[in-house]
Amino acid sequence: MAAKLVYSFGEGGADGANADKLLLGGKGAGLAEMSRLGIPVPPGFTITTEVCAFVQAHGGGYPEALRDEVEEHLRVLERRMGRRFGDAADPLLVSVRSGAAISMPGMMDTILNLGLNRDGVRGMEAAGCDPRWARDCYRRLLQMYGDVVLEVDKERFEARLSDARAREGVATDAELGAAALDDVIAAYESLLAEAGKPFPQEPREQLWGAIGAVFGSWDNRRARDYRRLHGISESLGTAVNVQAMVFGNRGPDCATGVAFTRNPATGERKFFGEYLVNAQGEDVVAGIRTPQSIEGRDGDAGMRRDFPAAYEQLHEVAGRLERHFRDMQDLEFTVEAGKLFLLQTRGGKRTGPAAVRIAVEMAEEGLLRAEEAVQRVEPEQLAQLLAPGFDIEEKRRAVAGGRLLARGLPAGPGAACGKMALTAERAAEMAAHGPVLLVREETSPEDIVGMHASSGILTARGGMTSHAAVVARGLGKPCVVGAEALHVDSRGGVLRVGERVLHEGDELSIDGSTGEVIAGKLHPHPSPIIREVVEGVAAADPRPAEAFTRLLGWADAARRLEVRANADTPEDARVARAFGARGIGLCRTEHMFFAEDRIAWVRQMILAHDEGERKAALAQLLPVQQADFEGIFAAMNGMPVTVRLLDPPLHEFLPHEPKAIARLAGQMGLDAARVEDAVHALEEVNPMLGHRGCRLGLTAPDIYRMQVEAIARAACNRKRAGDEVLVEIMHPLVGTEEEIAELRRLTQEVVERVLGEERLQLPVLIGTMIEVPRACTVADRIAAHADFFSFGTNDLTQMTYGFSRDDVGRFLPLYVEQGILPFDPFARLDEEGVGQLVAMACERGRRTKPSLKLGICGEHGGEPHSVAFFDSVGLDYVSCSPYRVPIARLAAARCRLKMDRAAEAA
Ligand code: PEP
Ligand code: MG
Repeated sequence: MAAKLVYSFGEGGADGANADKLLLGGKGAGLAEMSRLGIPVPPGFTITTEVCAFVQAHGGGYPEALRDEVEEHLRVLERRMGRRFGDAADPLLVSVRSGAAISMPGMMDTILNLGLNRDGVRGMEAAGCDPRWARDCYRRLLQMYGDVVLEVDKERFEARLSDARAREGVATDAELGAAALDDVIAAYESLLAEAGKPFPQEPREQLWGAIGAVFGSWDNRRARDYRRLHGISESLGTAVNVQAMVFGNRGPDCATGVAFTRNPATGERKFFGEYLVNAQGEDVVAGIRTPQSIEGRDGDAGMRRDFPAAYEQLHEVAGRLERHFRDMQDLEFTVEAGKLFLLQTRGGKRTGPAAVRIAVEMAEEGLLRAEEAVQRVEPEQLAQLLAPGFDIEEKRRAVAGGRLLARGLPAGPGAACGKMALTAERAAEMAAHGPVLLVREETSPEDIVGMHASSGILTARGGMTSHAAVVARGLGKPCVVGAEALHVDSRGGVLRVGERVLHEGDELSIDGSTGEVIAGKLHPHPSPIIREVVEGVAAADPRPAEAFTRLLGWADAARRLEVRANADTPEDARVARAFGARGIGLCRTEHMFFAEDRIAWVRQMILAHDEGERKAALAQLLPVQQADFEGIFAAMNGMPVTVRLLDPPLHEFLPHEPKAIARLAGQMGLDAARVEDAVHALEEVNPMLGHRGCRLGLTAPDIYRMQVEAIARAACNRKRAGDEVLVEIMHPLVGTEEEIAELRRLTQEVVERVLGEERLQLPVLIGTMIEVPRACTVADRIAAHADFFSFGTNDLTQMTYGFSRDDVGRFLPLYVEQGILPFDPFARLDEEGVGQLVAMACERGRRTKPSLKLGICGEHGGEPHSVAFFDSVGLDYVSCSPYRVPIARLAAARCRLKMDRAAEAA
């Protein structure tokens, strides 16, 4: 621990050479820096974050030197303010506030007006203070201290305050006179006494009680949850800031407010803020009184009229702070008797659209370099730009009105609303008449048509890489999975949630960015960026899309990793390209089999009596597959396309409900019992570990032969049409050298035959997915037969952990909540487990074949932390769903820039 535990600030200076956020916390460092810049800040001192760590480690005990140091800095403060702490005649009052290195707004505690007691109230009055004001300060202290330090439920204070307002017939606390406040004070004091926690009249006891509570608040549930959700280290700790009070509640020439140097919702470069006259800080956030706009609203002149001098100064200071910190600032200020004081400055929290616009405009203004602008935007913030959203106020009212039905995992960002359909077929039918939400226990590949037709997808089971989640992200549709409170009865046409019963056709809304499921209709607004970048529809305000494109251009200049997309259709490919994908890293062919014009042939192939029937069915499938590939190759002209041969087990293509089986038998002119037998025969106990992937390809090679022929013929046709076609044929689920050797032979044979017949030369790469742990350990041998590896980290995670991808919803959320797992490994790569297998496979594969191309096409390819890991182990590209391509581009740039910076520093 450093020798110095407390740092003073004030009077145009501060202890220490420069503001160290890690030591002083964000608030303490900001106050010290503002003081150094000569900005009016009430003086005070900061107890360092190191003391917090000590307190945590010593069961609440303080370092020995702390009391003396606090006394010493309190004396400096008394001298600066010309008042004494605890003086009954005219006491110095202070605020005690938390402040961690990374801001956690509203998570920890604040106490104002500390140092006041009954004698002090009388003393202040005797010294000429307004009696109402002195009582108001004491009343607030009792309330905050009672809540934060003495832990008496704050609702009980509010109830007494609201009684007083009702008795006096007034709407706001500011209208309570001195006598009414005396009653409130008496009620508060007896509330605390009855709770066995009388309010300490001794100011030093108050001070240490408050310091202890603020350090303790680092560990409260709210703060811990916030850190877990935002990945903030537990070891950072909070500082405690003790600062002389200035009063915004001292009369009509006083005010308190918050301001942003740019608009935190849109990023527009326009000063933005709100204030309340005759109020203290917590009134602004408590929402009891509606604050006024600083710049004025609806013809109101705002602060310019009420406080002209303070307004001018606030503007000037805000500009200076933004230039100094080179970031949008969030300011807290108080005006006391017309004089401005700054109480806080910090980098302001902002929405995704605002983050992009602010970073780009600051670079254009010369405040930041382009690489710095790239570092200023969190990749996940881009998801917010691309997703449709609900109006925040409308959603808040719906939740407050009891319409929140359930919470699930936020699997596909964005908001969707529609009539509820409980089967995929119903969804497809209903979609002709308006937006539909598909609600399923869980989805399977046979739901694909209904999923396409729906505006959003909701499941009661499944995790972040369940079928529903993967497909929804691929389609860019809002999706909530694993909402376990829901019971879907698709036969009965009802959805049950506890006592509530909803019927198919009822309106439902989901927020895939938060996981909320809300009864009834809310109104989603489409992302203007998607409309502009993908659909070419000009937005009313071109600035957001321009900033988005510019930022990603800078990111592209900084990254090494290439970014491809997972795309199964020409339309997906077009979207992927519009978002800057440089190829397709995974084209899953099974979804092509579900389209209406081909599922019958797929089923015919599966149910064929003999070789002849089977070949006939495959011959029907060949041209339609070929047409699909031609569309995709055309869309990706000049860029590589990796096509993966059929992966899922065949039983997924057959119906399972008796009615559907009977219908199929009728269509095919077969006996229903025979179809039923076939369905049963293909059933497996554990299909994900069963007869699927290359096991299917090797045991029923006609399917792969047909697919390879369709790919090769499509490539030849596109080449003849003048396109540059770069085909990569990929085999799923390979785990042994023998498997890939045989698959390569089979694939090469078909490719050579087709190229010979077509009389064309084309480069066709043959490679494998690496998604079985064994494939990683024998990667050196597999590489001898593969031109490329593409890591299927969805299956690799499933098989490394032994967690079923489709059932993790039952336990994974709990695992994460209890800290057994730090995060969902299907969403973010588990570097120390699965990642080590990836690293091993890269190293062994390249040992055999230095030119081996390496990529990843599991869901992790669009997750920023995982992207950084893939960069570090030397992959050539990541591939992710089209709507995550911008996120991956930015993440790939940021990890490179971070590495460059670390290398420079070393
Ligand atoms: C994977 O397993 O990571 C993968 C991309 O394949 P799928 O999700 O289709 O199993
Ligand atoms: Mg897989």
